[in-house]
Amino acid sequence: MRAADIASDITEVLVTEEQIQAKLDEIAAQVAEDYRDQDLLLVGVLKGAIMVMADFSRALPTVVPMDWMAVSSYGAGTRSSGVVQIRKDLDADLTGRHVLIVEDIIDSGLTLSWLLENFASRGAASVEVFALLRKPDAAKVEVRCRYIGFDIPNEFVIGYGLDYAEKYRNLRDVAILAPHVYA
Ligand code: IMP
Ligand code: MG
Repeated sequence: MRAADIASDITEVLVTEEQIQAKLDEIAAQVAEDYRDQDLLLVGVLKGAIMVMADFSRALPTVVPMDWMAVSSYGAGTRSSGVVQIRKDLDADLTGRHVLIVEDIIDSGLTLSWLLENFASRGAASVEVFALLRKPDAAKVEVRCRYIGFDIPNEFVIGYGLDYAEKYRNLRDVAILAPHVYA
């Protein structure tokens, strides 16, 4: 669905599907260049990163394996708890691998900083991050992030994989959720 289909649930469209696709092409070209001599493993963080992973991986001009990890730090609310729990671990052994974590959004940064430490402790050769969205004003910890799609305001957003209580992931664009929906 597009933003117009749920107009009363959102206050503003921040990034359109077209802007996302253009940005993914740009970043995929950069990643292909940066990793031209290394085998890359993409690790998507479920469930929010499913759309980014699907489109980003297909924008890459190379054969690249993907793995998935499910963690939770949010529950059903709109605030990060800081408590990270593994719900599904990776299938791959990270020893000696060049890992690129594919994330939907960096909010407080707590999830990613935890993941970065966790992956480093498993013997990965390198661990970098690509986050489609980042809220600079919400950062509680600094996260080393090599590739960023868009910096956005400190608002709760939905769409393109991002949910509120498991809804709105199938919105094509990224939009600010209207406060009346969760108030
Ligand atoms: P953190 O606060 O950086 O740890 O964010 C953890 C996770 O919360 C992200 O990977 C998202 O899946 C989710 N999240 C953070 N901000 C938003 C938002 O504005 N809308 C929907 N999900 C969010
Ligand atoms: Mg996420």
